Amino acid sequence: MPDATRPLPDLVLGDAVVDRDALRRSEPDLIERLLAVATTRVLDVRGASVPQRRTQLLWRAPQAQDRQWFDTGGVVLYLGHTSHGPALAVLRPQDDAPVPAPTGERPGDAATATTSEDGGDDAPSWRTLRDIGLELSGDDLACVTAAVALDQWHATHTHCPRCGALTIVVEAGWVRRCEADGSHHFPRTDPAVIMAIVDESDPDDSRLLLARGPRWKGPHRSVLAGFVEPGESFEQAVARETFEESGVEVTDVRYLGSQPWPFPASVMIGCLARAVTTPLRAQEGEIEEIGWYSRADVRQGLADGSLALPGRLSIARALIEHWYGEPLP
Ligand SMILES: [Zn+2]
Repeated sequence: MPDATRPLPDLVLGDAVVDRDALRRSEPDLIERLLAVATTRVLDVRGASVPQRRTQLLWRAPQAQDRQWFDTGGVVLYLGHTSHGPALAVLRPQDDAPVPAPTGERPGDAATATTSEDGGDDAPSWRTLRDIGLELSGDDLACVTAAVALDQWHATHTHCPRCGALTIVVEAGWVRRCEADGSHHFPRTDPAVIMAIVDESDPDDSRLLLARGPRWKGPHRSVLAGFVEPGESFEQAVARETFEESGVEVTDVRYLGSQPWPFPASVMIGCLARAVTTPLRAQEGEIEEIGWYSRADVRQGLADGSLALPGRLSIARALIEHWYGEPLP
C-alpha cells in the first residue's frame, strides 16, 4: 500500500524554480539598465504563449525595439537571475509580432513560420505553457510559468479597482500603481483545492472518487477540485467542495503538495481526504458522471479505453498516481 502521508513527488510546475531575485525589483531603472546589457536574456510573451523551436525555449538578446516598447508603456518584467544570467520578459499584445528569431539570427529568418506543423521541425512557433510544460525544466520552466501568469494579470488589470483610473507598471513589472490615488495592486493568485477522496471501508482495496464535468467528454475522469472561498481554510474548502459536488462527507484532510496553474491565475493545493459516507449525488450542472474506482477498475478502464486520466503536467494526475501507488500508463 502507498504511504498516504507522503507528500506528492514530481510536480512538474511545482518543482521548477528560478532565483526571482525579488529584492532587485525596486532598484531604480533596473529594466532600462538590463536592456542595455547584451548578455541579458529576453523572453517574448504573446497571449500567454512563448516562442519555442524543437524543445528549446527561444531566448534572445535585448533589441532597440524593447527600449522603445518599454518607454511607451509596454510591460517588461524582471524574471530573476537564471543560470545564464539576468532574464527579462517582454509582454507583447496578442496581435503583435511574428515568432522572434533566437539570438544570432536575423529576425526575418524566422518570421514566416507560425506553427510547427507547417514549418517543420526547425520552425519556431508560439506555444502555450500547456503545450510545452513537459518539454521544459529548471529555470526555463519557472520563467515561463511566472511570465505567463503575469502576462494574463497585466492584460486584465490595466485600471485601478478603487477609482477606475489607468495604472502604471512599477517594481520591474510585479506591481501596478494608480497615479490618481496612489494605491498599489499586486498580481493575483487564486487558490484552488484539488483532492483525492478515498473510500477505505475495505482497507485492502481502497477506492478513489473520480468524476467528469460538463466541459469534458468521453472517458475523461479526474479528481474533484474547486476554488477556496473567502473566509475559508484549505481543509474546509476540500470538505465543502467534495460535499457540494458529490454528496460525500470527508474527514482527515491532509495537504500533499501544490503547484502553480496559471490558466489563468490559480495555485492548485493538492489534498487527500478520507470518505465518511460513500453514496454519490452528482451536483447538477457541475458533474455529469461520478464513481468510485478501485485500482483494478483504473487498470481495466485504461486498458479498454473506457477511462482517460488528466495529463502529466497536472497535479490531478500526480494525486491519482499517488493513490494508485505507481505511475500509470
Ligand atoms: Zn485609483
